[in-house]
Parts: sequence; structure tokens; C-alpha cells
Amino acid sequence: MSYQGTQITISLKNLKANLYYIKSKVDNTTKIMCVVKAFGYGSEPIKISKFLEKNGIDYFAVAYVNEGIVLRNSGIKLPILVLHPQIDDFDEIIKYNLEPNIYSFRILNAFIKKSKSHPFHLKFNTGLNRLGFSIDDIDKLYDILNGQGNIKFLLSHLGASEDKKEKNYTENQISLFEKISAEMENKFGISFKKHLLNTSGILNYSKFKYDMVRTGIGLYGYGNDKKFSKHLKPVLSLKSIISQIHSIKKGESVGYNRGFVAKTNCNVAIIPIGHADGISRRLGNGKVGFLIKNKIAKTVGNICMDMLMLDVTNISCKEGDEVTIIDDKVQTAEDLGEKINTISYEILTSLSSRIKRTIVNI
Ligand SMILES: *Cc1c(COP(=O)(O)O)cnc(C)c1O
Repeated sequence: MSYQGTQITISLKNLKANLYYIKSKVDNTTKIMCVVKAFGYGSEPIKISKFLEKNGIDYFAVAYVNEGIVLRNSGIKLPILVLHPQIDDFDEIIKYNLEPNIYSFRILNAFIKKSKSHPFHLKFNTGLNRLGFSIDDIDKLYDILNGQGNIKFLLSHLGASEDKKEKNYTENQISLFEKISAEMENKFGISFKKHLLNTSGILNYSKFKYDMVRTGIGLYGYGNDKKFSKHLKPVLSLKSIISQIHSIKKGESVGYNRGFVAKTNCNVAIIPIGHADGISRRLGNGKVGFLIKNKIAKTVGNICMDMLMLDVTNISCKEGDEVTIIDDKVQTAEDLGEKINTISYEILTSLSSRIKRTIVNI
């Protein structure tokens, strides 16, 4: 199959190892929800989800309804939570048997107009101040919902579960969630199932696993903490090739806006991947290097839309040789993110869908 020379490889073996590591942090009665939003964190959503479904998980989560429809159309049978539905989504949510995360009265009212029996998850805000009801909304929720709603789970979301310095904040979120849960159960006179923890929550606060945990980044091999790096294995690697090599003379320039002007004679390799593929323009001008023949070749000049240039003056290499951009050893997505003050999540999810994905079992 033809491709641009740049390839992403997805390791199912690493995915499985990560899933097992996450599972080892909770009881075997705790349900596992796998978060496959944003194209499976930039990897590939369908084959990954099918693989996870076969490996004993319980639930999927996506951000938007379209992502859930893609999973249903590919034959996924497990329940799918839609984290961020809008009022116009409910016909499709019901048609495709998706479960909405209900986070406001506006959304709740639109939803129960469509169905009073379709299952949903009820989201409370405990300090992240993103989506969710507040503890003061419980009476009104009861008035609207009493006897006519199918709340499958209560949930909230931690805002700093990876950050040791914010332990207090996280513990406050947890105790508020407990208080909300108790008030909900008291008011409604029944007990509810709950889920709270994301990956870093599972790794750092596993005691609060409740009935289910939600893992995203951990599945893909990142734990937001070097401590967990040896247990989690990056699932995605990104490689490219050298399209062409130029000998540049002292005084000549390379790339748009003459971003680089040679102080000495040098060799520059042209690589078929650019900012349109998710390699940020901020990584240009020597900010990062990629691996060629076991040596680091730094970026030269500005990153272009579809290509970038690397300094290969001191590397014996030729056109067609391999370039490693992200892998699980030399340079992870987290390492790359650190160079430009961002996180593995952004590096991974920025990788363009035009890059060919190959799924391997090793
Ligand atoms: C994205 C998301 C997750 C997954 O978080 P990770 O840090 O990737 O494990 C869990 N819960 C909610 C509400 C999310 O939006």
C-alpha cells in the first residue's frame, strides 16, 4: 500500500500489558472503562476497541456522539458512555444505544423529553469546574427525576490526580464526591453505582475505585509520572524516512523565511512529515532531534506543513533511511511534549489521521 513515507505503528502487545497493569491496581470486581475518544488518543479507535473488547473490559467512553457511532458501526457491543453530549444528540444516542453523561439541567431536560427509561450517567462537579451539577442541585434533580430516570452511574472527574502537590485539592474532590453520593442516595432512597478515577487517579488514589474506573492515557502507555514509566509501555511509535539530502554551503539558507542560515557547510535531510501531521512548528530550529542511524538529528529551520528538515552533517545516512520520531525508548510522546511545554496527550492526539496506521501484535 502506498503511503507518504511516514508511519504510525500501534502495538497491541503493549496495549494489553498496559491494560493488565491498570487492572492490577484495582480489584477484579472493579469494572474497567476504556477511554477511546479523540481517535483513541491519536492511535486508531476501531481495531483498538475491538481488541480491548475481546480482552475483558466492561465499558468504553468517547467525548462526542460521532465517536460513539463509529464504534457501534464497527460492531462494538459493550456499553459506550458519551462524555460531552449536546441537546441535539439524543435521537442518535438512543438509536445507537449510547449512554449520555448528563451534566446540566439544560441537557437533562432535553434528554428526558426524548426518553425516561434510557440509561445515563449523572455528572457532578467537585472542583474541576468543567462539566457537572453541583451538590446544591440535588433537590431539584430529585424533583425532575423522581421515578422517571434511569441513572446507571454517578460520576465526577479529578482535576489534578497526577500532581502530588495538589493532594489536598484531590482529597477535597473525593470527599465532596462522597458527600454528594450520600446525599443522592439519601434523597432518592436507593444506592447508586459510581465512577471517579482517571488513569492518574487509578495509579495514585486506587482506594477510590468504586464500581468502575476510567482509563485513557494509561492504556496508551503514559502515566503522567516517571515512576510509572517502567510499568507502562507506549503503544504508538512514529517513524518516517529521508526523502532527500542536500549539501548546504556556508551562507545558504534552508526552508521558509530563511529560518536557517548555514554558518558552515552542512548536510540537511528532508523528512515527509510536518506541522499538518502534528509536529508542532515550535519544534523547529533545533528545538528537538529525531533518531537516524542511532544518532540524533536536530531540526533545521522552520517546520513546514508537510515536511521538516534535519541536520545530518555528522550522521552517515542516505536517502530512504529510517527516521524515528516517537518510540517507547529513545523519545516518547512525553519527552517530545516536554520540549515545548505540553503533555503526551496533546502530542498523541495531534497526530494527523492522514498518517498511515499499522496495527501489530508485537
Ligand atoms: C478524557 C477523560 C478521562 C481519561 O483520562 P486519562 O487521564 O486519559 O486517563 C476520564 N474521564 C473523563 C471525564 C475524561 O474526560
